[in-house]
Amino acid sequence: MLTRLSLRKSLPLLLGLFAGLYILLMIGLHLPRTARLAEEDLKRYTEQILILVQSSASDHLRQRRTDELQSVLADLGSLPGVRWAMVIDDRQRVIAASRLGLDPGEQLGDAGTLQTLLGGDRSRWQPLQERRYLASYPLVHTYAQGQLLRNNLLVSLDYEQHLDQRRSNAWMSLTQTLGLLLLLGLLLNLLYGRLVTRRLGVISTAVQRYASGDSNAQASVGGRDEISRLAENFNQMIQQLGENQTALRDSEQLLRNLVSAAPIAMLIIDADGRVEEANPAAGRLFGRSLRSLAELPSQALLGEPNWRQLQERPRQQQEITVRCGDRPLSLEGSCTPFERNGQAFHLLLLHDIGDRKRAEQRLRHLANFDQLTEVANRNHLLIRLDELLARGGPLSLLFLNIDHFKRINDSLGHDIGDQLLRAVADRLRLYASPRDLLARLGGDEFLFLLDGRDSAAAVGLGERLLEALRQPFQARQYSLYITASLGITQHTGRGGTGSELLKQADLALLRAKTEGRNRLACFDSQLAAEAEERQRMEDELRLAIAREEFELHYQPQVDNDNRPRSVEALLRWRSPSRGLVSPLQFIPVLEDTGMIRDVSRWVFRQACRQAVQWSAQGLKLRVAVNLSPLDFRQPNLAEILTGILAEEGAPAELIELELTESALLESDGSVQETLRRLKEIGLPLYLDDFGTGYSSLTYLQKFRFDGLKIDRQFVAELPENPRSVALVRGILTMAAQLGLEVVAEGVENERQAAFLRLNGCHRLQGFLFARPRPAADCAWQAQRA
Ligand code: C2E
Ligand code: MG
Ligand code: MG
Repeated sequence: MLTRLSLRKSLPLLLGLFAGLYILLMIGLHLPRTARLAEEDLKRYTEQILILVQSSASDHLRQRRTDELQSVLADLGSLPGVRWAMVIDDRQRVIAASRLGLDPGEQLGDAGTLQTLLGGDRSRWQPLQERRYLASYPLVHTYAQGQLLRNNLLVSLDYEQHLDQRRSNAWMSLTQTLGLLLLLGLLLNLLYGRLVTRRLGVISTAVQRYASGDSNAQASVGGRDEISRLAENFNQMIQQLGENQTALRDSEQLLRNLVSAAPIAMLIIDADGRVEEANPAAGRLFGRSLRSLAELPSQALLGEPNWRQLQERPRQQQEITVRCGDRPLSLEGSCTPFERNGQAFHLLLLHDIGDRKRAEQRLRHLANFDQLTEVANRNHLLIRLDELLARGGPLSLLFLNIDHFKRINDSLGHDIGDQLLRAVADRLRLYASPRDLLARLGGDEFLFLLDGRDSAAAVGLGERLLEALRQPFQARQYSLYITASLGITQHTGRGGTGSELLKQADLALLRAKTEGRNRLACFDSQLAAEAEERQRMEDELRLAIAREEFELHYQPQVDNDNRPRSVEALLRWRSPSRGLVSPLQFIPVLEDTGMIRDVSRWVFRQACRQAVQWSAQGLKLRVAVNLSPLDFRQPNLAEILTGILAEEGAPAELIELELTESALLESDGSVQETLRRLKEIGLPLYLDDFGTGYSSLTYLQKFRFDGLKIDRQFVAELPENPRSVALVRGILTMAAQLGLEVVAEGVENERQAAFLRLNGCHRLQGFLFARPRPAADCAWQAQRA
């Protein structure tokens, strides 16, 4: 109950209650009890005195000492509550009395009572009125005039006055106590007000101010007691709350900023499927204002199936396509259910993956289509081919190459070459039925994959293509006339892998080329046998490398005095089954399979050894080593050769390198860099088979050669054929101008030798001087030595 009142009122009330209770207790219990006890005390005390007086009065009576008796009674009369005392005999004669006598008109008592009191042998107290008694104490008997007289001490007692005094004293002390209590209460109330109520009020006001929004509210209460500590704690709490609130506000603001700035659309959907809130990214994504998004049903925004799909798989990233106006939106998003204030909501996160989809599509396109011509690429073709083969059924491959395309590229530039390739692809595309796949495998190689068609159909198509390609192409100002070679193969539905089929088409194409180009050729049993033989040779060559079945033969290049200056190392394969095999037969196989790299290293090492050996024998000879175009595709060729030179202890000046123009075909910066480093090492470079390629002059300009070797087809018809004469003279003049040394190959007779020497070619190689022989059989060694 007290807690319902303010402390300011409850303390005085409490004090008042205590005071009232105190007064009630005093008046109701304490004061009457005190009066009763005081009366009893007084009576007991009076009794004890009266017993003493009884004895001394008896003595005085016996001795007849009346004065002493009088004095005793006088003393007795001065006792509190004793009105009078007298010694009286049973004839009611007063023998002695205290000074105070009876009140006027006062009776000693009624006769009967007095007779009873005076006649008894025992002391007795006879109550007269309230707190008034007549006490009688028997004394010794005396004789007077021979008569026995009974004497009594008779005392009138009245405690009323005395007790009144005691009562008024008690009231006085009660009043004093109450006054004191009141004063104390006032003082306490004052102190309580100052120390507790007012200070708590300060705290309470601060709390109210804080509650009504004043975040700086502080309770300034001095002191070091609990209340000041409470105020201090309150202030600290307010400060802490303020800091927490600032942090909370900051983080809330940050979160809001993040949500606003997030590139991901965020929407809160209520239980009825309506948009409750959305961030700016959502507005941008759907091309709507945030206001128009609010309250919009999510089905209307996303479409019923999408909304259902998102809900059915909560928290999972899913891709959906939404129609936004007339454009489709590719979105990725998730739907997360959550509760707020007991209500169910969904958080929808969405972002546009249109760009990614387009990029993926572009990547897929890049992975499967040729960038230049937009027809399928090799990868796409191989996948489709494997699919069709797995399905079974007939199919044909038609492999097409533009004849001498390289010439166009080299003479008119790559731009024109590219334009031509695009135009060719466009024209070829016209002939591809929907079931066919046209692909560009690289360079000028096109391939038709004809699903469900046999080779007869392919031949029909091939002939139409040949005819179509003969019509000129226009690239800028040039009218380009081209022809093509075609290789055809078919798959009848049994056996054969994709790469085998491609190989067959390639072999057929090769035949079309070797038969003069501008034609088509089909893969047949002869080609199959050749392919089989080639495979066999490949297998045997692998073994040959392992078993070291190769050997080198040496053919000298002689000077004007027919003395060998250099020796060309020519590779031979001593096959256990085939005998001595010409490099013209097996080097293409080594090149096709990449085995040539290992073999070239072996040749180079053997040539170094031989050169060192000849050098040790005093023969000043350089050994010329033929390298394959494939060797030049190794970026570390110079390092490999340097390593072998060092291992064999061969100085670079003992070796020459011969390379054909095909090594420089499609050469990029790395081939040029390899040639530069080979020259740095000190290895002279010779361009072999000069004149049989297409753009020798370009290469001579591009690369720094030490010399060139005129191919033997030019030498063969010297000096009879005027064209050969003109060509060889031309080559020699040009080489002289460029400071290049010239070696003539295939010199078989004296007339050729004479012509060449006469025209300034001083290094000759051919059967006229020596055939290639193993080092041990070289007769010219002795001659040279
Ligand atoms: P090449 O480098 O042009 O070698 C010259 C070829 O002409 C050799 O044929 C040689 O025997 C032949 N020859 C030399 N003088 C005459 C002659 O008076 N009349 C006729 N008819 N032929 C003559 P070979 O040894 O059969 O080599 C053929 C080709 O094989 C070489 O042509 C070269 O391109 C290649 N070759 C040979 N050895 C190697 C090698 O170790 N590595 C590489 N990558 N290719 C090699
Ligand atoms: Mg050579
Ligand atoms: Mg040659």
